[in-house]
Amino acid sequence: MTGSETFIHQPFWWSDSRFQPGSFVQPDLPPKKSDVVIIGAGYTGLSAALTLARAGRSVVVLDAERPGWGCSARNGGLLGPSFHKLGLKGLERAYGKEKARAIMRESLDSMRSLVSFVEKEKIDCELVMRGRFRGAVHPKHYDSLARQVEIMQRELGLNVHMVPKSEQHYEIGSDLYHGGAVYEDDGTLQPALLLQGLLQKATEAGAKIYGEQAVQDISGSEGKLEVRTKSHSLMARNVIVATNGYTPKNLKWFRRRLIPIRSAVTATEELPPEKIRELSPKLRGHGDTHRLVFYYRPSADGKRMIFGGRAKDLKDNPQEYVPYLRNAMRRIYPQLQSVRVEYGWSGVVAYTFDHAPHVGEVDGVHYAMGYCGSGVGRAVYFGRKTALKVLGDPEGRTELDDLPFKSRQLYNGSPWFMPFMIRWHAFADRMGW
Ligand SMILES: Cc1cc2nc3c(=O)[nH]c(=O)nc-3n(C[C@H](O)[C@H](O)[C@H](O)COP(=O)(O)OP(=O)(O)OC[C@H]3O[C@@H](n4cnc5c(N)ncnc54)[C@H](O)[C@@H]3O)c2cc1C
Repeated sequence: MTGSETFIHQPFWWSDSRFQPGSFVQPDLPPKKSDVVIIGAGYTGLSAALTLARAGRSVVVLDAERPGWGCSARNGGLLGPSFHKLGLKGLERAYGKEKARAIMRESLDSMRSLVSFVEKEKIDCELVMRGRFRGAVHPKHYDSLARQVEIMQRELGLNVHMVPKSEQHYEIGSDLYHGGAVYEDDGTLQPALLLQGLLQKATEAGAKIYGEQAVQDISGSEGKLEVRTKSHSLMARNVIVATNGYTPKNLKWFRRRLIPIRSAVTATEELPPEKIRELSPKLRGHGDTHRLVFYYRPSADGKRMIFGGRAKDLKDNPQEYVPYLRNAMRRIYPQLQSVRVEYGWSGVVAYTFDHAPHVGEVDGVHYAMGYCGSGVGRAVYFGRKTALKVLGDPEGRTELDDLPFKSRQLYNGSPWFMPFMIRWHAFADRMGW
């Protein structure tokens, strides 16, 4: 790549020779008929495909590009319970005490279920549960983190604790923070290898996966649905939409309910092991209390720092986000001043108007989406739940079933307001709000 600096514009994860998603793509054309058609071959779609194929259904998965083209092989690989942005108190105000706790508990379940899935299926995706340190960028953020931590310990029995600034060097080689919280049960993984594992398991179970099959339209009703691509028509009893941040405008009902936001990641050049230990003494995942989030971690091979955050533009503009992330990384770690960024890439996540993922059915079409930037555990979990719903299995029930999936009047799926929101959050970050 040319410009003021040179970097490879592709996810670092894809340089792992074990990542071969193309080898699972069917060479022929999709069949005209199947029990279930799944749109989108990311964690959600493949997790659903695996469950359905193992239950004996004929399953066709269509991706507009190729499996893993979306977020699932591009993400930062941080695994946590991904609690609702409103927090327990906000959820209580919105849905009442019992429901709020149930939603939070299910978030924990989604993370734990991914860990046991990876173990049971022996998926080699370099999952390590070393915890996460979240730094407070302002002294008052430390106090508010401490209040959240106390609630999480008391109400959910979570293994989380505060670390004061005086002890923070045991967690991170940075002076930027005013202490922070450690979430001991969080983990990190190599995201593209998790995708590869799901692809392999779903294919072995009998699901047929097709690339370059962009779905343009879904019509009919449950039991007799028609899915159309540019050149094909497929009939299926059930359809699952699993397109998350990549949901196209022609799937209008879904797109109007999602706010696509670009998230970007960089990987440094290789660093000596002692430097990585200095940056992250316990090799944990990291994040902080900035409104425009930053997330970072040592790479799974322990040789690089992976550093991610929100891009300002919905377009893939690495000349904007790579310098932005590099500068943020150097603010946190001044010792990386002369370290080069070697990889820079991005993907599109899907936010929702109520900050919650949504799982359900509309006009006979099932869906799971809207993970609000935290979908590693959730997508695999809700993909499976959606498959169980298709099977009519009561285990498919989730705490999110009765949350209405709302859009806003006049919103057509183009988030024109995001540049203003981003500027506002950047201002609030500068002010320490
Ligand atoms: C840069 C980045 C960093 C992230 N970091 C983290 C993290 O550290 N931790 C975390 O928990 N989450 C993270 N996430 C979020 C997480 O990766 C996603 O929530 C999750 O992967 C969503 O999976 P999915 O299967 O629902 O969607 P995706 O993986 O996005 O898959 C959707 C698929 O649908 C396909 N598609 C779209 N339209 C059509 C169509 N018309 N026809 C057929 N196919 C179509 C796309 O090609 C795509 O492959 C990150 C995301 C990004 C982009």
